[in-house]
Amino acid sequence: MEKPLDFNNPLHSDALWLEALNFVKGRMDQATFNLWLEPLKPSALQDNALVVEAPDSFSASWVQNHYGAEIVAALQSLNPAVSRVVFVAKDVSAAGLATPKAYPPPAEKAETGGNAKAERREPRRVDSTRRTRPGNNLNPLYTFDNFIIGENNRLAHAAALSISQSPGTAYNPLFIYGQVGVGKTHLMQAVGNFAKTQADFHVVYLSSEQFLNEFIDSLLNKNTAAFRNRFRDLDLLLIDDIQFIGGKEETQREFFHTFNTLHDYHKQVVLSSDRPPKELKNLERRLVSRFEWGLVVDIQPPDLETRIAIIENKARLKNFPLAKEVAFCLAEKVEGNVRSLEGALTKLIACAGLYNKSEVDVAFTENILKDLFQNENNKPKVDIATIQEWVSRYYNIKISELKGDRRQQSLVAPRQIAIYLSRKLTGASLPQIGEGFGGKNHTTILYTCRKVEDKMSKDVNFKEEVERVLLKFKGDLNDN
Ligand code: ADP
Ligand code: MG
Repeated sequence: MEKPLDFNNPLHSDALWLEALNFVKGRMDQATFNLWLEPLKPSALQDNALVVEAPDSFSASWVQNHYGAEIVAALQSLNPAVSRVVFVAKDVSAAGLATPKAYPPPAEKAETGGNAKAERREPRRVDSTRRTRPGNNLNPLYTFDNFIIGENNRLAHAAALSISQSPGTAYNPLFIYGQVGVGKTHLMQAVGNFAKTQADFHVVYLSSEQFLNEFIDSLLNKNTAAFRNRFRDLDLLLIDDIQFIGGKEETQREFFHTFNTLHDYHKQVVLSSDRPPKELKNLERRLVSRFEWGLVVDIQPPDLETRIAIIENKARLKNFPLAKEVAFCLAEKVEGNVRSLEGALTKLIACAGLYNKSEVDVAFTENILKDLFQNENNKPKVDIATIQEWVSRYYNIKISELKGDRRQQSLVAPRQIAIYLSRKLTGASLPQIGEGFGGKNHTTILYTCRKVEDKMSKDVNFKEEVERVLLKFKGDLNDN
């Protein structure tokens, strides 16, 4: 560009920007370019600065931090008259929340960004009409006090506690994932309950479905401004089961907007999902990258000790006297999902009442559980020996090899699968399975089952193989 820039000519800003983009494009991968740079639009040339509009202030600050310097260098090489680039959020102004925010490089803050800072530091407005708005959806029973900490949830718990003490300052967003019934909702609710009592923080908990429904309502009623306002001066937004907004583009866009607004104002967002952000299906990539911006923590299914502690705690809450052996028996038989564990306890309490039992023992519990399993799974019971026979036939190896300890690859996988299936199908305890497999320790059995589950979740071929073995069994079972 040889001609001097005409600072009043919008065409010049366009041309300059396109040239600069070409320049930086070669320095990043295509996906990053498409995600962050392509959506930007030059809007003006002012005081030797190119003003560029970003879809929202989050993008504006991201581009400024990651590529600001390079873009300025590119612009200057094209025309030395341009000394700065200022990224401005379009969204925020459009929603009427604030005047556009500039994100100049730190050294130039005083010149162009003074008021942005002032806006951020604005004290929280307390609007009493908003605070009385119905429905924060918090269940007072889901507290930190009632949440049992185990190895499976230690990090998630610590992060949750930390943000509930000072929302918006530590990890934002906090993203908690894990399979069903491991305590995600409980933990999120605990954050809400705690934050609310601590400092009268304004909190809303919603399932992603509720979020979706409210948003659709607002579209139908042409009332999206009110919908946005609802989130405007929240201190803490908790959205549960975010996987359900996958594929719902309008809702994702709205959520993106809500998220950015809250994030910009240092308000805390907590999200939960049944899988990590990267594995969320049909979710816009910009949303995925938002979710990863803060802290991502998982909750695993609780181990035996934790399950015992949880069940004892639940019994205490229900004022039901639970002997240690009975708690152990329940926790040992009902694995993984805490909700099923609670279901078993509820049934036990109901039956104790029904049979007028003031004290429940292990035999009674086993009886009740037997029923529960039969009703729940309705699957024919097989024993360890039968499974060993099947697996050895399937893989054409000897039963003694299956039970043995040889670490040969052709034996290890069938052995692991046989142990896993014994655990899944027989209802035998860990020590019993260990016994059945040549006197292995019960922790070895537990470890093996976890390993198989882990491998199944990561390796689809392996998963299919286990399923094939299982199908073969089922075929045999039906033939018998
Ligand atoms: P998720 O949202 O992960 O599906 P929930 O939070 O609904 O699971 O948990 C299911 C039930 O298990 C709830 O009643 C909850 O109180 C209980 N629960 C799960 N984990 C724990 C824990 N660590 N301590 C106490 N209760 C728990
Ligand atoms: Mg839940």
